Amino acid sequence: MNPNFLQTPLAYLKGVGPNRAETLKSELGLETFRDLLHLFPNRYLDRTSYYKVNQLQPSGADVQVVGKIIHIKTVEQKRGKRLVATFVDETGQMELVWFRGHKWIKESLQINEPYVVFGRVSKYGSVFSMPHPDMELLSKHQQGLKIAMQPIYPSTEKLVNKGITNRVVSQMLQQLLLESGGQFAESLPQSILEELRLISKSDALLNIHFPKNQELLAKAQFRLKFEELFFVQMQLISKKMLRKQKIKGLPFENVGEKFTDFFANHLPFELTDAQKRVIKEIRNDLGSNAQMNRLLQGDVGSGKTIVALMCMLLAIDNGFQACLMAPTEILATQHYNGLKELLVHMDVKIALLTGSTKKSERTLLHNQLENGNLNILVGTHAVLEDKVQFKNLGLAIVDEQHRFGVAQRSKLWRKNETPPHILVMTATPIPRTLAMSLYGDLDVSVIDELPPGRKPVKTVHRFDSNRLKVFRFIKDEIKKGRQIYIVYPLIQESEAMDYKDLMDGYESIARDFPQPEYQISIVHGKMKPTDKDYEMERFLKGETQIMVATTVIEVGVNVPNASVMIIESAERFGLSQLHQLRGRVGRGAEQSYCILMTGHKLSDDAKTRLQTMTGTNDGFEIAEVDLKLRGPGDLMGTQQSGMLNLKIADIVKDNQILKTARYHAIQLLKNDPRLEKTKNRPVLNAYSKMMANKTIWNYIS
Ligand code: ADP
Ligand code: MG
Repeated sequence: MNPNFLQTPLAYLKGVGPNRAETLKSELGLETFRDLLHLFPNRYLDRTSYYKVNQLQPSGADVQVVGKIIHIKTVEQKRGKRLVATFVDETGQMELVWFRGHKWIKESLQINEPYVVFGRVSKYGSVFSMPHPDMELLSKHQQGLKIAMQPIYPSTEKLVNKGITNRVVSQMLQQLLLESGGQFAESLPQSILEELRLISKSDALLNIHFPKNQELLAKAQFRLKFEELFFVQMQLISKKMLRKQKIKGLPFENVGEKFTDFFANHLPFELTDAQKRVIKEIRNDLGSNAQMNRLLQGDVGSGKTIVALMCMLLAIDNGFQACLMAPTEILATQHYNGLKELLVHMDVKIALLTGSTKKSERTLLHNQLENGNLNILVGTHAVLEDKVQFKNLGLAIVDEQHRFGVAQRSKLWRKNETPPHILVMTATPIPRTLAMSLYGDLDVSVIDELPPGRKPVKTVHRFDSNRLKVFRFIKDEIKKGRQIYIVYPLIQESEAMDYKDLMDGYESIARDFPQPEYQISIVHGKMKPTDKDYEMERFLKGETQIMVATTVIEVGVNVPNASVMIIESAERFGLSQLHQLRGRVGRGAEQSYCILMTGHKLSDDAKTRLQTMTGTNDGFEIAEVDLKLRGPGDLMGTQQSGMLNLKIADIVKDNQILKTARYHAIQLLKNDPRLEKTKNRPVLNAYSKMMANKTIWNYIS
């Protein structure tokens, strides 16, 4: 086979031509022989049995019937026309029906010739009808490749209207396999093929399109899924290795005075084993020659802040500055206050920079940063502004990563001549499989243990009709000295309605919880930051017992005395949001509660979300359900979903294969980082081709 065979434009394939090639390109993005070969079927139909017309059942299943067309007519109906062919065999007659593509179909149908028709039948009156059947002349059917499992390819309405039916696509593939001689270059080394008992690339491609039987189909799918995930991992891992080689990190060689002093004298509690382990992992990174790029995952309340602080002390001990960024002003302020308190007995200079920092303060701050008088800067996105220059930024920590884009992360990189070490902290647990695919080039640390003595939050689901009981419960809790959150959804598309709900809710709560016995705070996005802060402050100090809010309070806010979280219209929240909100309570020693309020009408997904929330407190378990419900693209936002554009593998369903693929990619690159060994030649060839053709993702820079 000509080595460039697969590069050939599709128009040159027999039976395609320029017009069809154009349609295949615009509809399915197929341009070359290779693209067509990698158009994998969505599903397969069993075509081993043939039915007689009098055996048909109105089951909606796909069936195959042999017979002849004896009559064709066009029937006028209210909207457009319908083409109806009367189809008979020796046992009876049925109808074949087309709602589109009449002209082309009418011209191609042959009267009184035996056909095999295939499709879904339904019954109208006493007559069975098969809309848009897949059909083939019996004579051709008998000559064609004998396939038991018929592949069904991705399709569009336009393709069908232009006559490129499933059968036509299948014929194109037959032609392609014929012209290629069915031989394709192997892309995996012999050792992996043997160890995992994978079938060859050629066998896999043949059987994915024309499976000889179920077993070979399964083997073909496994092989191709493995290969796809393997090369994605190859790309992620080699990228990480390259980064470690190329980008020299700032060496943090000293375990200095401040770290030790803090650890020995000022730690307010004993670290959990998980915290200790994670600090060790980070210290190893910081002490190595490479730049750190680490993701720190830990459920809400698992104690990431103290880990961040200790890492920042390491930076200071090594003569560097550090910064900590949070997505909101409230959070940044809370971090600043918390850290200041922890550092009260230590000689560390720390400052806060947010959008509302006054100009005069700002100027002072800029100077202190530039001359190195300031050790730690805590702030919001304001930290990223170009005006903010450090003398020597050694470590940048980003809290609540999902709100920070990739672009912002790379801005941090440029804050120092040698890029600072980067630690990204997130409370949204990312399922392992997803982390492996999306952050395969980052290192990951996990705090999988909560500080001792926490009582798990009790979660219940209540219907709106039980509101009075819920209010009574709130009153009891307030009597015990506790505080309450009541959260309303705020979705951008229905913002006006949502604000109305919030204000209506607030008024009704104000009626049921009258002053002066009860004091209520309200916080939402339309308020001025100063008013927001004032209200937050009152709640924090315990001056108000109830906080009515939108999801502003979702992330990070810490009021240990708050013991009840009520979520209104809980069915409208996503799982990760619900979990985040629940994390606002259960921070003190008292038993805490989360009450999910909904109406009676609930979608299946909403029911699953509510059941998951009442069933578990484990963030990773919740993240797995979320991934299944929403799919990976949605979960990580559109920005990253492109990277999950897999052709055959599914990172949720195939996560076992993903793990195997990752393991083998790591082993291979460890033993042969530059793919120089003869035995890895197939991998090198395939990999270079993929990179040249950009058939694997262009990963984030
Ligand atoms: P998150 O991971 O959500 O950012 P925080 O760092 O805010 O969690 O910690 C939550 C609370 O737990 C804080 O009040 C913190 O002081 C406390 N905490 C953290 N680590 C421990 C520990 N090892 N033992 C006891 N309390 C801890
Ligand atoms: Mg936090």
